[in-house]
Formats: sequence, structure tokens, C-alpha cells
Amino acid sequence: MVNFVPQELIVERGSESSPIYRNLRRALPEVPLTIIDEAGAAALADAGQADLFGAAKKKLYLMRHRGEFFKKCPGSDGQVCCNYFVINFASNCPMDCSYCYLQEYLQDNPALKVFSNIDDLIDEADRTLQKHRGVFFRIGTGEITDSLALEPYTGMARELIPYFAEQPNILLELKTKSASVESLLDLDPKGRVVVAWSMNPERVIALEEHDTASFHQRLAAARRCQDAGYRLGFHFDPMIEYEGWQADYQAMLEEIFATIDWRRLSWLSLGVLRETPGLKRRMRERYPQSRLLTGEQVLCPDGKMRYFQPLRVEMYRNMVRWIRRHAPTVKVYLCMESREVWQQVFGFAPACEKELGNQMAPRA
Ligand code: SF4
Repeated sequence: MVNFVPQELIVERGSESSPIYRNLRRALPEVPLTIIDEAGAAALADAGQADLFGAAKKKLYLMRHRGEFFKKCPGSDGQVCCNYFVINFASNCPMDCSYCYLQEYLQDNPALKVFSNIDDLIDEADRTLQKHRGVFFRIGTGEITDSLALEPYTGMARELIPYFAEQPNILLELKTKSASVESLLDLDPKGRVVVAWSMNPERVIALEEHDTASFHQRLAAARRCQDAGYRLGFHFDPMIEYEGWQADYQAMLEEIFATIDWRRLSWLSLGVLRETPGLKRRMRERYPQSRLLTGEQVLCPDGKMRYFQPLRVEMYRNMVRWIRRHAPTVKVYLCMESREVWQQVFGFAPACEKELGNQMAPRA
């Protein structure tokens, strides 16, 4: 994550009492700040730029979240779901991957927002977790943002970890393409926090994952988190097929397993590049030079374009084989894939989403 500094802070009146406001002011004393009465309307009205989505990433809103924080991950129609829950503490992301689905998902409301009412977030999570103590929850914060990209300024993860580390029936996953882990290192995650990186070979990162941390920065951050007592995860998603991908992905795995103790991994996931036709249009507008626009893809029943099934199966089988050489029993799952593909890759498909979710529960 390379030197993102917001050009302006817009704070909704009332949010000044939040610890996130205090953290922002301490970390960004030089950034101009405006306090306004109703940030939601202002964020929506903040239009008129040639690349509104790109421009929206430069201004940071701090405001109350008025809806629910805690939700079930929507998954994708007809695909095997991994029973994941999400907490949305922010919306949009300061990094800018050419394939990011937020370009379509947030195109009508692209403001970069962080939510100030974290007491409400914790109350809401607490009600659900208390009520269902017999259920294991895998909870992520990186559905419509990156979990750690804004951490040096907001300190959001640092505010939330002490609560979630005490919960007996969860794993909280912080998923990122940044290397912003400094604020986590002196906390005790008590085995309940997984810091996870989306990983791709450096060649893909340089071409398609703009303003993110390099592969080696991500790996070094993962090692620091391992040493600080965190569980780790890696998501090889989206995997990109190109000439020579096999050598690059194999070399990437070799480096990861030479740096990380695989027994500290909670899970690895695999997924290939996928876009809706609408996202593809947005990519063409924003990144017309992207090589991702030229590969052959087919429309799948969930409305997303993916590589042909035989190619996907081959890519997944290779990755599983290369992973198993280093990490014989680590949990590997497929993200947003059909039962048929699961069968061909692993020889089974989970009976239900709860079964897959429960397999991720910590054993120790
Ligand atoms: S890091 Fe994630 S959320 Fe941020 S731009 Fe890339 S894909 Fe989107």
C-alpha cells in the first residue's frame, strides 16, 4: 500500500466523539478537515468528475453507519458458499485494482467512508454472538473495503480486536493487500484473529493491483503477524491465466512457504478472475489497457464471466498439488465455484455451507 494520504477529511457532526476521529486527527493533522451536518447526502452528491470512482478514493468521509453492520456474505447464485459473515466498517478502498468489483457495486455511491459508531457495531455483533454461542462464525471485514489499508489512520482493527479476541465462537478475518500491520503487533489476538492476504505473483500485482503493497511487502507483513501470534490466511484470488502463469504461481508458493509456518495457516482459498458484464464495461472505461480484458471467458449461471471450466479445474488442481507439497493438511477451499468444479478438484463437494464453514473452526 503505497503512501495513500487522503486529500481531505469530511466528518459528520457527532462523529467527533468516536475513537476513530481521534485516531484520524492524530495521524493526519495536516489534512484539511470539514465538519458537516449530514455526510450521507454530501457523499452521494459529490459527483461531476471524469472518473468519479477514482476521484472518490481521495477524500475520506467519517460518518455514522445507519444500517446493520453484521450480515451474512451474499455469496454467488448456485455456487458453493462458505458460510461467511461480514462486518462492514468502511466502504470503498484507497487502492485501485483493475478487476475490483467495487467499481460496479459502488458506482452510484463511491465515496470512501469509514464508520464512526463502532459502539453500535460491537453491540450488534455481541447480540448475535451471545444468542448463538453454539454456532461458529467466520467473520470478515473486507467485503466492501480492504480490512487494513486505512489502518494507519483509522486504527479501526486495533479498536475492534480486543472485543473479538474474547469471543469463543468466532474467527475474525482481516483481509488485505496492504502491509499495514504495525498497530496490530502489540495486541493479543488470543487465537481468534486471522490476518489474511490476497496474493498474486509480482507480475500481476505490478500490472493490475494499483497502489497495493508489493508481494514481498505483503509477505513480510504476514511474517510479522505470525511472529506476533496471529493466525494467517492467504487468498489466491483472483488467479490470472497468462503465458508462464504456472512458473510464477509455483515460485510464489515456494516463497510463501519458505517464510511462513504453514501450521499457523487457518485457510487458503483459490478463485479465478470473474466479472459481470457490467464490471467488464467499467474496467474498459477505467483501465482500457488492462490485459484482463482480452482473455477468453464464458458466462456462468450466476451471471459472471470466468475462464472455461476445464481451464479452471486445471489451474485449481495445479495449485492444490503445489500447496500440498509444503502444507499437506492445510484447509484449502474454492471461492464462488460450482459443486461440479469442487468435485473435479477435490473429489467431493461440501454437503452444505455449514459443513464448509465448520471445517474452518479452530481445532486448538
Ligand atoms: S484491494 Fe480489494 S477492495 Fe481494494 S481495490 Fe483492490 S480488490 Fe478492490
